[in-house]
Amino acid sequence: MYERLYQHSGMLISEKETICPLCHEELDENLMSPNPCVYDTTSFVKYNGLWWFINVWNCRAVLCATENMRGYLRYRKIICDEKTKEKINELVIKSVEEHGALNISGLYGLSDELVEFLENNEDKITIQ
Ligand SMILES: [Zn+2]
Repeated sequence: MYERLYQHSGMLISEKETICPLCHEELDENLMSPNPCVYDTTSFVKYNGLWWFINVWNCRAVLCATENMRGYLRYRKIICDEKTKEKINELVIKSVEEHGALNISGLYGLSDELVEFLENNEDKITIQ
């Protein structure tokens, strides 16, 4: 089981709530919501007690898992065999290309296909 949360294009803070000025979606403490914004913003997957996303920098895409989403990010190590690593890398690049390109640095969301691969191969993947 996993949960997908989306970043939004902005925020309006009132006494009662924080909402996105564009789509009026109510945002949580991480300024995200389960529904996408009008623009294609980054989505983050909450899976296995961790936050998952892809960091693209210098034409390299790296799958990241962190314990938290705010402040200093505590990254965890993802360890698996070569074959699993190859498949993950392939799905990571596909995820990036769905929303951008490897030469556009930034954070990207995992595709459903990638999250499902992680779920189905839990026995081959160690998180440290
Ligand atoms: Zn929005």
